[in-house]
Amino acid sequence: MTFVIIGAGFTGIELACELRQRIRVHASADVADSARVVLIEREPVAGPQLGPGPRPVIEEALQNARVEVLLKTQVIRINDDGIELEGGTSIAAKPPSPPPGYAPIASPKRSMYRWTRSVAFPHLRITDRPGWYATGDVACAYAEGEHVALMSCQHAMTMGKFAGANVARDLCGQPLLTYQQPNYQTCLDLGDYGAVLTRGWQRDVLKSGREAKPIKVFINQKVIYPPIDDHAALLAASASPI
Ligand SMILES: Cc1cc2nc3c(=O)[nH]c(=O)nc-3n(C[C@H](O)[C@H](O)[C@H](O)COP(=O)(O)OP(=O)(O)OC[C@H]3O[C@@H](n4cnc5c(N)ncnc54)[C@H](O)[C@@H]3O)c2cc1C
Repeated sequence: MTFVIIGAGFTGIELACELRQRIRVHASADVADSARVVLIEREPVAGPQLGPGPRPVIEEALQNARVEVLLKTQVIRINDDGIELEGGTSIAAKPPSPPPGYAPIASPKRSMYRWTRSVAFPHLRITDRPGWYATGDVACAYAEGEHVALMSCQHAMTMGKFAGANVARDLCGQPLLTYQQPNYQTCLDLGDYGAVLTRGWQRDVLKSGREAKPIKVFINQKVIYPPIDDHAALLAASASPI
């Protein structure tokens, strides 16, 4: 019962912290307690993109959840019987997916994040493609100067409003709106430990542990869902951002 999670980014950390509770539900308390949960990250810290602010909270939550964190560790291949790591070591685990023989794409550091997204400036119009607009995870757009919009709900929803408004403005010959992402916050789920809420690109910690958990639950169960069967509420939720 070894569970290996590759990548200690936003979702890898959330999954690692929550996994034992899920095993408890789907198997048993004994299996959950004895399972080995391994989180592999090639960078020297967990959550490298999340910055130093929330890191102590994240590290404590991973420790509480008894997650083995392997840092500066690169996966080179996933086989029938486990995970091969750079340097010749391996971890025995049965891969349900992806199929055996799968080799993670060897990418230069941090570059995949940008390469797989269409470059869109600053009106979310794709460079060199008149009439094409990008939004959400597929858009690599600058927000607040040098920061690139993250692949997150908060950015996706705001970008969607700007892109939608600009498509209409483009068609009507009106000036386009410049994408902005004010009041950026991050809320990371940390399983039984709770959550951590941060503000701004520098990610100052606002709340952590049990105090932050209701915010995460509210986001996941309410904020990210559009209103249903309520035309006025739907229009209000998708209205032009400016
Ligand atoms: C496990 C997990 C946890 C996450 N947790 C958080 C979180 O806590 N907070 C946060 O801010 N973000 C979180 N994210 C990120 C967030 O979900 C994404 O950034 C956001 O959903 C991006 O929105 P989007 O509209 O760009 O793409 P999506 O939400 O992925 O929507 C794309 C849609 O396009 C459809 N589609 C794809 N291809 C085609 C096609 N060829 N034809 C027609 N339709 C197609 C898909 O079915 C999908 O419905 C999480 C992501 C994951 C995977």
